[in-house]
Amino acid sequence: MSIASEGAGDTGVMLHPELRADRDEAPKSPNGQRLDHAEGASKPLRVRPEKQPRGAKIHGNRPVNQAEAAARFIAAPEHEKMHDERLWDLRQKRDREMHGIPEWEELRALASSIKEHTLVHLDEYLEQFEAKASANGIHLHWAKDAAEHNHIVHRILSDHGAKSLIKSKSMLTEECGFRHYMASVGIEVIETDLGERIQQLDNEDPSHVVVPAVHKLRTDVAEVFAKTIGTDPNNSDVHYLAEAQRQSNRPLILAADAGMTGCNFAVAETGTFVVCTNEGNADLSANVPKLHIASIGIEKIIPRLEHLAVLIRLLSRSALGSPITQYTSHFRGPRDGGEMHIVLVDNGRSSRLGMPEFWTSLKCIRCGACMNTCPVYRRSGGLSYGATYSGPIGLIIDPTFNAHKYSNLPFASTLNGSCSNVCPVKINIHEQILAWRRELVKLHEVSFVKKAAMKAAGELLSRPAAYRAAIATADVALANLPRFVIYNGLNTWGTHREVPHPPRQTFHSWHQANRRAKK
Ligand code: SF4
Repeated sequence: MSIASEGAGDTGVMLHPELRADRDEAPKSPNGQRLDHAEGASKPLRVRPEKQPRGAKIHGNRPVNQAEAAARFIAAPEHEKMHDERLWDLRQKRDREMHGIPEWEELRALASSIKEHTLVHLDEYLEQFEAKASANGIHLHWAKDAAEHNHIVHRILSDHGAKSLIKSKSMLTEECGFRHYMASVGIEVIETDLGERIQQLDNEDPSHVVVPAVHKLRTDVAEVFAKTIGTDPNNSDVHYLAEAQRQSNRPLILAADAGMTGCNFAVAETGTFVVCTNEGNADLSANVPKLHIASIGIEKIIPRLEHLAVLIRLLSRSALGSPITQYTSHFRGPRDGGEMHIVLVDNGRSSRLGMPEFWTSLKCIRCGACMNTCPVYRRSGGLSYGATYSGPIGLIIDPTFNAHKYSNLPFASTLNGSCSNVCPVKINIHEQILAWRRELVKLHEVSFVKKAAMKAAGELLSRPAAYRAAIATADVALANLPRFVIYNGLNTWGTHREVPHPPRQTFHSWHQANRRAKK
């Protein structure tokens, strides 16, 4: 494997010069330095802060109504604008990094084949990982589902008499409902990632896989901290808030009985695993207490250390538009006098591996790039999906857990394909979203009204003459019908937006008049 040197300055190739840093209009500090993402997003609000919209209401196993929760998010204009801008900022930073690496597409293709190869031979690599990790002095456990994962961790903690656990961010533990379970058995869990801690204190799930509190204004954070850790409710300065949280959390970290991390990549040939963070919080969780437990989804395995180089080069660039995370920590075995456990978790992954149209979703490295680029996600907020995973990757993973409950999610997409274009491991996300729609129809999980509407639209779109006649009729009707006929319960599209005024001339008639005739 040969990888050329990187960096825009070395390459001399810039496909999109308008994205160069010297044209960058991001916020600047008083001494002219570009502010990073968090600081740039912390500009004072000019208007009175609005109430933070909450996520989807979950009613047992009833299908999540993503549109209803998204409507509440859209109705809070400061939140919607900030959310859209922050995530689009990340998308643009990702583009700048990508254009600095001429072999970017080669890297994506390589990453995709590494992950696909590993998934095809997953059983062999998992056994190799188990043998090597055990030889390194790590205790290995296998969990078939979320409940088993939680019981195993509980047992380990009980064996050590542990009553408090510090934990770095892990989507797998969110999948397992880990915090709620631990609360039910009387063990205190303290999140060490700042965004995740904000969400924990606000009793909310993460709204994004990389930036869990990205939907919150800093005034929301000030309100949460004022209620939970006693800060000044009128002070929303980010440095003040971050320092206050640090002072409040640090004693809890130092006194914790056990630490827990997730994992970004687990290397079969060495039995080691890697956790990437920007705050060093995984290192605190792993190194302060003597007991370290790592929860690892079985799809996190890669065969060799050299494969890590490919994936690490893609991960942070795709996620945050930075060349690498501040900390890329390798864990090989227990610290001196300590104990390390790994829980390898399936929780539906084996079944997904057997789904011909959806198995490649297991390639996901949880970078969040598909979420940052998705126009629906950016304007509806992650909590509107009412699921562990939101945005485009959520649309294809969540129904594998519960096709009934998440049956509305695959329809929260414009199918524009931008998600697939930015995915560093080349998952065909938009095609899988479409495939899920077909699958949900087969499973009778699509409402009669939606099916009938789609069938009618299909009939119409397959007959050009009928389609043009219908458009002409609709244009006349839209221009003349009273408002209550257009905006009623049957027109769900018009619930949140105005139907645009029909143009005087359609593109087709313009083309007939101006182009066809001249041939
Ligand atoms: S699907 Fe691709 S872009 Fe989306 S989070 Fe996963 S790896 Fe990133």
